[in-house]
Amino acid sequence: MNKRYDVIIAGLGPAGTVALWHLARMGFYVAAFDWRTSDTLWGKPCGDALGAHHPREAGLPDPPSSTIKNTVKAIDIYAPGEKVRYRVYGDGYIIDRNKFGKWLLSDVIDKDNVDVFLGAKVLEPIIKNNSVKGIRVRIGDRVEEFHANVVIEATGFSRAIRNKLPHNWLIYEPIDPKDTNIAYREIIEYEDYEIEEPEVIRIYLDQEIAPGGYWWYFPESKHGVNVGLGVQGGMGYPNPMQIYREKLTKHPLLSRNYKVVTAAGAPLPTRRPSNTLVGPGVLVIGDAGYTVNPVHGGGMGYGFRAAYYAAKAIEEAHNRGDFSEKGLWSLNTNYMRGLGAKQAALDIFRRFLQRLSNDEIRYGMEKKLIPEQDVLYTSSAGEIKISTLEKAKIVLRGLRRPSLLAKLKIVADYMKKAKQAYLEYPEEPEKLPQWITSIERIFSEFEAKLAEKG
Ligand SMILES: Cc1cc2nc3c(=O)[nH]c(=O)nc-3n(C[C@H](O)[C@H](O)[C@H](O)COP(=O)(O)OP(=O)(O)OC[C@H]3O[C@@H](n4cnc5c(N)ncnc54)[C@H](O)[C@@H]3O)c2cc1C
Repeated sequence: MNKRYDVIIAGLGPAGTVALWHLARMGFYVAAFDWRTSDTLWGKPCGDALGAHHPREAGLPDPPSSTIKNTVKAIDIYAPGEKVRYRVYGDGYIIDRNKFGKWLLSDVIDKDNVDVFLGAKVLEPIIKNNSVKGIRVRIGDRVEEFHANVVIEATGFSRAIRNKLPHNWLIYEPIDPKDTNIAYREIIEYEDYEIEEPEVIRIYLDQEIAPGGYWWYFPESKHGVNVGLGVQGGMGYPNPMQIYREKLTKHPLLSRNYKVVTAAGAPLPTRRPSNTLVGPGVLVIGDAGYTVNPVHGGGMGYGFRAAYYAAKAIEEAHNRGDFSEKGLWSLNTNYMRGLGAKQAALDIFRRFLQRLSNDEIRYGMEKKLIPEQDVLYTSSAGEIKISTLEKAKIVLRGLRRPSLLAKLKIVADYMKKAKQAYLEYPEEPEKLPQWITSIERIFSEFEAKLAEKG
């Protein structure tokens, strides 16, 4: 067996599979590893919601109907108490992750240039001369070594490779537990209840049920739903499964007869992307590189995009014969100046949201401080419009809530600063340390200013 490849991919979740799909079609010799089997591929518990634009923007075909459980037309966002509701229109799917993953894989798995190893546990990177040269993998009862020009770390939140990189490499960047959510979800099937508007998925903001997160109700069909909640990590909040059992099951939607089809929990990153997705001989994508939407935790589309850019970066590096950090750098510039900039701005917004009380969220939505029609703009552009702020000013002045107004103004300012800093992401690795200092300053200044306002 050839154990020398162009590229090694560790992890075949959404990010790793999309990287494999592109690289295989580009003709590279690729070895890909996952400890799951075909039946459990893409098996991380998930809400399974995917914006329709995401596959297209990552150079993929649309998911075929056989991999779609439900088609989504809008998202309802409920304020605490559920009296106020925003409806945000947008097309998407509830996908069958296992089927979609296998469908992508089936397109490339028989190619001569692809070796896929399932049931294979990635143990560690092989590092020589200060660069990743390959990985050690347990396959059955043997430990084997595989070598390549580039290793893609796509093992999700477990970061099997990344956690074992030298701590002085900038790509080794552990996550603060407060920048994570711990989530739990059940997929249930009602016995005698038909869901109203199954094409609308629902998000409920409620700091008592889901502190620092939200709970969701995503219909998969007229009778089946993916229901779950995420709570902010590192805060000492109760575990989400316990909250689900004690509180959520009392909600009218769950006070009907149903059977639980499957139940599981998992952590996810909810922050801006890693400072760098490129290290010597290694690229990091997906949850392993913190490429997620910090506000709603959606990570599939972001992982697809990072994977697409990783494949392009490898193609460019190959054409130039330069697999150094510099040679692979375009993954960083492409990701950071696009989705990364939005992620950074939304990370600021997430930090603000997590500090709000139920009363403040309810009040803000009732008074439409960010009006329904601007929610999509804020979340897709990573900006609060000036006109939105002007309107909020009038409302909040009239209602004598100066501290909320001051906070909203700080949030809008720092969303802009964070976004701008990511748009100016350095062109080459040498300037990265300086850039990291500036981005850390923006975030710590923001935290301090918000704290000042109480
Ligand atoms: C409860 C919950 C709900 C969510 N809801 C949504 C949603 O509705 N929409 C959305 O877009 N995102 C959602 N997310 C986030 C989304 O699930 C992740 O962002 C996405 O799965 C990340 O893809 P990934 O490929 O980076 O990682 P993963 O999906 O975690 O895949 C990593 C792969 O690496 C493999 N692996 C790990 N370690 C090793 C090892 N040592 N050796 C071999 N293989 C290894 C794993 O088996 C896995 O297959 C949710 C997350 C949670 C926890």
